[in-house]
Amino acid sequence: MINQHAKHSPSSLGNKANCPGWTSNNRGDKSAAIAGTECHAWMEWHMSQKGPEPPLTAPQRAFCAISLESVRKITNALTAQIKLKPVFYIEQKVVIKQGKREVTFGTVDLIASYGKVLLIIDYKFGALPVPEPRENWQAQAYVAGAFQMFPGATEVQFHFVHPQLKLHTTGTFLRAEEPALTKKVDNLITICESPDKILKPSDLNCQWCGSRVECPALGKQALAVVEGVQGSCEGVFDLPAEFNPQNITDPVEMDKALAARAMLSKWCDDVKDCALEMNRAGTKFTNFELRSRRGKKEITKIKETFDTLQTLCNIELPDFLATCKVDPKLLETMIKAQFPTGQKASNTASIMEELDDIGLLERRPGSQFLCRKRS
Ligand code: SF4
Repeated sequence: MINQHAKHSPSSLGNKANCPGWTSNNRGDKSAAIAGTECHAWMEWHMSQKGPEPPLTAPQRAFCAISLESVRKITNALTAQIKLKPVFYIEQKVVIKQGKREVTFGTVDLIASYGKVLLIIDYKFGALPVPEPRENWQAQAYVAGAFQMFPGATEVQFHFVHPQLKLHTTGTFLRAEEPALTKKVDNLITICESPDKILKPSDLNCQWCGSRVECPALGKQALAVVEGVQGSCEGVFDLPAEFNPQNITDPVEMDKALAARAMLSKWCDDVKDCALEMNRAGTKFTNFELRSRRGKKEITKIKETFDTLQTLCNIELPDFLATCKVDPKLLETMIKAQFPTGQKASNTASIMEELDDIGLLERRPGSQFLCRKRS
């Protein structure tokens, strides 16, 4: 798998078209991205049969099986139509050039060359759909690069395969479109590189952006909200002179920033609560809708569950107990109840200490937070 990423990679162009300051975000939870990378690695291994098989979880295995089935169907259909066997290029680097100048590059999951016709397949292992190929910046950049790499090709058939959504979108591009596609990509990257670029905050784009911390446009919007909220309780706190948290070194200024943060987060909570109330009362919003999350499953009747399982399968007691958790607070209450008044606290404390000493009482790592001092 090629791990090189261009500064303006084809997969980032859609976000950059919405705001030229957008950068990919390396902070926060990366588990979904890692799971997708593992699926890509497995698909590459399967198609090339090189090296050891990368391990996959059961859902990843299912997504890869769906993707393979899509590849089989798409390539079989084209092979039957063109009556040519394809040459496969797996994890193929394509370079988009304007004349001799390299504009950007990317790595295509799969190119199948049928002479004049090229097939490009890109797997999308995430849970969110992407715009279909003809409306998609990544597809357009790959197509431009593929036309440049295969000068004999007159047509590119592009497919996005979304196994998690059981969705497959396709679009066809003709060679005559290549100069315009290259120019479009080149123009966007020129804007992104310009120091005078105009940033365009939007909720959808900003939430995935790696420039959030230092973004002046987002900072301005946030501070405008704080100023607006503060209007109703003037003089309570000052706003910091510097809004980029990375640049605040003065503790007095950071104090002001923390106060603004508290105000902003209260405002966010109030927006959520008031909007929920409006929605429940029948108001519909243009971009937001009410969704429900099912409550977390819980088994509280441990013994009854084990007894029932005995009639349904062969689960052994040690295996079953390994799935159970003891609530230390509840346990403490039960231990306390064993002792007479006056001895409850001391006896419970020494039993819990004993459990702690022999390593039976585990502690999750604690967390640190800042809160306002009580004066
Ligand atoms: S955080 Fe700033 S740079 Fe990033 S997308 Fe939003 S407005 Fe653009």
